[in-house]
Amino acid sequence: MLDKIEKLANVLNGSYSEKSLYGLLASFFSENFGVQSFSVVTDENKFDLIQGEKYPIFKHKKCIGYLAFDNISKDLNSFLDIGAAFISLKIQNIILNEKMQKNVDFHDTMKNIAKIIETQYELHYIIPLIGEMLDKFFPDYLIYIFLRDGDGKNCNLAWPALCRDENILKMVNINSAELSEDKKTYIHPLISETKNVGILAAKSTAGEITIKDRDYLGQLSAQIATTINRANVYAEILKHATLDALTGFYNRHQLEERIKQEVANAKRQHAPLCGIMTDIDYFKNVNDTYGHAAGDLVLKTIAKVIRSQLREYDIAGRYGGEEFSILLPFTKISEAQMVAERLRQTIENKSVDISKVCPDSDVKKLNVTISLGVYEIKESDGDDDLMQKADKALYQAKNTGRNKVVINND
Ligand code: GH3
Ligand code: MG
Ligand code: MG
Repeated sequence: MLDKIEKLANVLNGSYSEKSLYGLLASFFSENFGVQSFSVVTDENKFDLIQGEKYPIFKHKKCIGYLAFDNISKDLNSFLDIGAAFISLKIQNIILNEKMQKNVDFHDTMKNIAKIIETQYELHYIIPLIGEMLDKFFPDYLIYIFLRDGDGKNCNLAWPALCRDENILKMVNINSAELSEDKKTYIHPLISETKNVGILAAKSTAGEITIKDRDYLGQLSAQIATTINRANVYAEILKHATLDALTGFYNRHQLEERIKQEVANAKRQHAPLCGIMTDIDYFKNVNDTYGHAAGDLVLKTIAKVIRSQLREYDIAGRYGGEEFSILLPFTKISEAQMVAERLRQTIENKSVDISKVCPDSDVKKLNVTISLGVYEIKESDGDDDLMQKADKALYQAKNTGRNKVVINND
């Protein structure tokens, strides 16, 4: 008997997950007592379903579950009179640890959702980041985020790309949390300062959604709604600001104002004016492989290179996420082509040191390339033509190999 207790102590000594511990106990009982089937049941709802024979485990004299066997021999029974208490302690320990870890993960997720807003305010960029965090936090659930559009009429899927779940699609307009009858779907509205901005839905692919997880989903919904609200407010403010926070370039709104002015100037003075549109090649890979902090650093570095290569009166703006626009006043297409080619080469040869923002990465230096489209405005062109026609050339550069300059001679 003593040697078996010692063997049990060895089994219990490691640090395990619930599952791996139960597996090891099953082998232990099989080897030492010829037990054919063994399981641990700690879910009250399943106590009545136990088949075979069971031995109770206690915490402070309260029964918290059963060790279930196909058959409990006399030997096994007297062993359990001593051993069950040790097993019970270990199980309590593991369950407590797993709960604590889940709590730590939960607070990390809440904090990270709140933090996104420090670097990003575009919803189409923020929502996938949140979606990925939730997918990681709830590995057993399919997570969906729907967002209400500006006038509040439609609520559209924002994460992931597809939702075929009819039950969820039917419930996108709810105003309070709802749990489906089978307790496997839970939908929570995203409400911030009384404004309903969408819904968060979770569909379990395993068991029922627990009360604890519903509580997590509720708190996460509030945090997500706040982040969305802040992003909207921030975007509104930035529209009226002049400079893009990340690159220091003109933002889209200001850029469009400057394009109008420069086009008017060029026409009035009959002076040449060129526009360049650039877009980083395969930039999504940088974010996906090294994280968006590395992506942001690449963006900043490229902005710096662009600025350093331009004359003082040239104008650079951030057109969109990783797209930059450049205006070259008093510049003919042949010169603009040279500027574009110089930019392309300088960036191709520039390494970005990501070791600080990405300390765990084996790769310390990144090289990226850009594609560029160039166009010189004509008398007959309208305000929008300059950048649209440069963009057409950029599109062609992308389609014919990238890391190149294409001129639009329209
Ligand atoms: P292509 O060569 O065709 O341009 O491929 P791509 O991957 O660069 O193009 P795509 O348009 O698919 O991806 C652009 C990516 O830019 C998507 C998004 O992850 C990233 N992005 C946009 N804005 C930001 C930003 O402010 N910071 C970071 N880190 N990434 C951004
Ligand atoms: Mg792009
Ligand atoms: Mg790109």
